Amino acid sequence: ERDWRIFREDYNIAIKGGRIPNPIRAWSESNIKKDILDIIAAAGYTEPTPIQRQAITIGLQNRDIIGVAETGSGKTLAFLIPLLEWIQSLPKIARLEDADQGPYALVMAPTRELAQQIEEETTKFGGPLGIRTVAVIGGLSREEQGMKLRMGCEIVIATPGRLVDVLENRYLVLNQCTYVVFDEADKMIDMGFEPDVQKILKFMPVTNEKPDNDDAEDEDKLLANFLSKHKFRQTVMFTATMPPAVERMARQYLRRPAYVYIGAIGK
Ligand code: ADP
Ligand code: MG
Repeated sequence: ERDWRIFREDYNIAIKGGRIPNPIRAWSESNIKKDILDIIAAAGYTEPTPIQRQAITIGLQNRDIIGVAETGSGKTLAFLIPLLEWIQSLPKIARLEDADQGPYALVMAPTRELAQQIEEETTKFGGPLGIRTVAVIGGLSREEQGMKLRMGCEIVIATPGRLVDVLENRYLVLNQCTYVVFDEADKMIDMGFEPDVQKILKFMPVTNEKPDNDDAEDEDKLLANFLSKHKFRQTVMFTATMPPAVERMARQYLRRPAYVYIGAIGK
């Protein structure tokens, strides 16, 4: 335990929240599956960055997480690796049968440029695994966008405003989307996307409220949760800064999250 404390200090990793798993010492010592490790190696990423060391092990436990680290610190891969592993863990047959039920995961980013960058990274790492990604961003007509979506995909990367438009016009459903990533949450709030985020989450069949008793009152909710294949939404949030508005958003959407802070922000 003391060794891990020193290890975290060396990499400027601060944590909050109970039972945080150990960080990754080396890619080869992690429990990331070999096919993904091969892609990481092919990309020339010899070592994980500090946010990747701590956030990936938490993400692989399917736990909600809030990761705070400066721009350029490798946050994309920090959320992408657990997300890809989770999609790979879904039975292949289900992935084919449920193709018209929409993506399994949704990544939201505040700008078109950021969404495109994430799409590139997701395609680079997920493509070789047969995981398809579509970006829902401004620039394409609704019809063109709808055409791309009809081809099917496991992951949608979207800006909130455009996504609301596409959902309300039924070019996309989120009937089996249970994994949500908010990237650059601070910027998302600054740009006033919270009302759009609220609307988007209403298109999903699952809540992040964990029923802690079998109350008769909660029967409808329990039934809905039982019927949905994955009972609860996994929600992760990444941000470069942690102003009170982001903390509030985390409390609203995340369930018993693990906090990871890298660098001066955790001091
Ligand atoms: P952030 O989202 O924190 O701003 P990015 O995820 O965009 O950072 O990563 C910044 C750059 O670092 C990208 O070009 C990415 O390809 C690269 N990168 C990510 N992880 C690693 C790694 N482990 N080793 C080397 N380069 C990496
Ligand atoms: Mg980023």
